[in-house]
Amino acid sequence: MATFAPHTRFLLHLHHSRLHPHAYQFRNVPSIYRAQHTHTHTPRTPTRLKLPPTLSLFVAVSGLIYYAATLHISPQPKTLNPQTFTVYTLTSKTPVATSPISHTTIFSLRPVHPPDQQLPFGEGILSVQIKQPQLQIARSYTPLPNAGDGEGEEDGALRFLVKREPGGEMTRYLFSLGLEDKVFLRGPMVEYIFPPAGEVDKTLFIAGGTGIAPALQLAANSPSQKTEIFWAVRNKAETEGAMAEGVERLIRKTKGKVSVKVFVDAEGGIGVRDVERGMEGGKVAVVVSGPEGFIKWVAGEKVWKDGREEQGKLGGVVRRVLEKRGGEVSVFKL
Ligand SMILES: Cc1cc2nc3c(=O)[nH]c(=O)nc-3n(C[C@H](O)[C@H](O)[C@H](O)COP(=O)(O)OP(=O)(O)OC[C@H]3O[C@@H](n4cnc5c(N)ncnc54)[C@H](O)[C@@H]3O)c2cc1C
Repeated sequence: MATFAPHTRFLLHLHHSRLHPHAYQFRNVPSIYRAQHTHTHTPRTPTRLKLPPTLSLFVAVSGLIYYAATLHISPQPKTLNPQTFTVYTLTSKTPVATSPISHTTIFSLRPVHPPDQQLPFGEGILSVQIKQPQLQIARSYTPLPNAGDGEGEEDGALRFLVKREPGGEMTRYLFSLGLEDKVFLRGPMVEYIFPPAGEVDKTLFIAGGTGIAPALQLAANSPSQKTEIFWAVRNKAETEGAMAEGVERLIRKTKGKVSVKVFVDAEGGIGVRDVERGMEGGKVAVVVSGPEGFIKWVAGEKVWKDGREEQGKLGGVVRRVLEKRGGEVSVFKL
């Protein structure tokens, strides 16, 4: 029988947001941010009031406090946090492949103030939100594991694999940024908490496109004994260049614990037999990440309930495999 193990939950100090990105922009704007941008009332015609000096002083101080709070005079946060946006600098922007040019690019961002502690990558798969300041929207992105060259380990730099969406609001903005431009981030949000060591024998991560970013994060940090990644891509170019180097480095570093198999759409993509084989090997946790249609095909649709995205029923190829051969797996759709 198929079981669902909704591993995502709040970490005490962390904020979790799995709202639809489009709904998010209306729901999750922090109050200080909202206050800054909702001053639309026009002041009435001024009337002269004569107040005793102590009351005048009180009114003046209260006014200043209100002004500071609403107009964001309070200092910019120095450390990444889930409530307010923290300033980073774009340090590099590298297309995954140049010939032919891929639709995916790796963005490296460095915090203006080096953090005093690392993000809790050991807890689970983390995402952060990036703000588009003109439109005042934010979208989630998944940091890639550190490059292994020291960058990011000390200075808190983060790298993201981003796919350019034709007509996409946030990606149009991100791809238009130049080096040294400021970027505003908040988070982290925990998208999936790793099962404790020994709970599963293997994690099968089925990733579509940029869904490889959470797969690599999991492979680099989870206590799972073995991680098998199936990576489905439209174009082989998406798996080349910096991505190929990153994947190879991770495989070497994890000493046989991690394997990555690429499936190109034009060559047939992931087949039912592949998933069936991937689900063998003891107690298996299946994690799926990628575009909506991909998740639906692999494990069934996610659903919206009361403004929140939920796991929905198990369906797709994973269900067919379980119906055919029986057994039990935990399934999580990112
Ligand atoms: C937890 C999480 C982690 C994520 N991690 C990553 C990551 O690491 N890398 C990554 O690349 N993405 C990631 N995403 C997706 C990312 O958040 C954005 O959704 C994505 O970059 C597209 O944003 P956008 O604003 O550019 O596109 P949007 O403006 O949201 O548009 C998306 C698509 O819809 C089309 N569209 C928009 N409006 C309309 C309309 N009215 N009619 C028809 N079509 C329309 C656009 O043309 C575009 O193709 C993640 C999402 C989540 C929830």
